[in-house]
Amino acid sequence: MLVSVWAWSQQPQADKTQKRAAPRGNPPDTEVWQPVPAVITPGQNYGLPPSDAVVLFDGTNLQQWVSTKDKSPASWKVEGGVFTVDKSVRGNNIETKQAFQDYQLHIEWRIPEKITGEGQARGNSGLFLASTGGGDAGYEVQIVDTYNNENKTYVNGSAGSLYKQLAPLVNPARKPGEWNTYDIAWVAPTFNDDGSVKTTARVTVFFNNVLVQNNVELSGETVFIGKPFYKKYESAPIKLQAHGDPSEPISFRNIWVRDLSK
Ligand code: MG
Repeated sequence: MLVSVWAWSQQPQADKTQKRAAPRGNPPDTEVWQPVPAVITPGQNYGLPPSDAVVLFDGTNLQQWVSTKDKSPASWKVEGGVFTVDKSVRGNNIETKQAFQDYQLHIEWRIPEKITGEGQARGNSGLFLASTGGGDAGYEVQIVDTYNNENKTYVNGSAGSLYKQLAPLVNPARKPGEWNTYDIAWVAPTFNDDGSVKTTARVTVFFNNVLVQNNVELSGETVFIGKPFYKKYESAPIKLQAHGDPSEPISFRNIWVRDLSK
């Protein structure tokens, strides 16, 4: 049937008023049939993991996470199906045991209802899409209270920004005390043997189901001071930030990832 339709389409057009030339070539040349995308079962409700996800936090424990500093068990407190940043130790970032390249990620976060502080010192944490070293090394999607733009700060440091590189397209943040979601597609950078960049990092971010980063290109790792730069890595953990500011610590829940590098 397909062949006969194609053969028909190759017949000279009877309508001489038709000015546009008939397309040349073989239509099947541009059809892609393999590999067939695997059928998976989506979660029944919004935000729940599909059947092929690696669950990084299901509400019970932090067994998938370690301290960034010394790889000891993550000390952040799990309670009531959520976990909360432990700011009692300076620089107490945590990261996944598992390393990733390209992936899809879902994560939920909540600023405390009675948050205090101003600017970057108001509910600051962060999601590092790739932890390329200790401290805050890597590529950070910022988490901070910028609900309703009431807390003034630089826009490329607001929630949904790629820190100090790209402001979010809009601000769909929910108010303190309510849960926010990030759904992210991360395309890791790749490198040549000499360490130079082969392909840059790209990321798409949905913030509470609203597109805030549309397949944007990063200039390198996100840095607090100076210009972004790339440094070679193969695969990296996902990291959460224990920011040094004194404001009340934020909480996380329902974290899962789909590894796209396999
Ligand atoms: Mg941060």
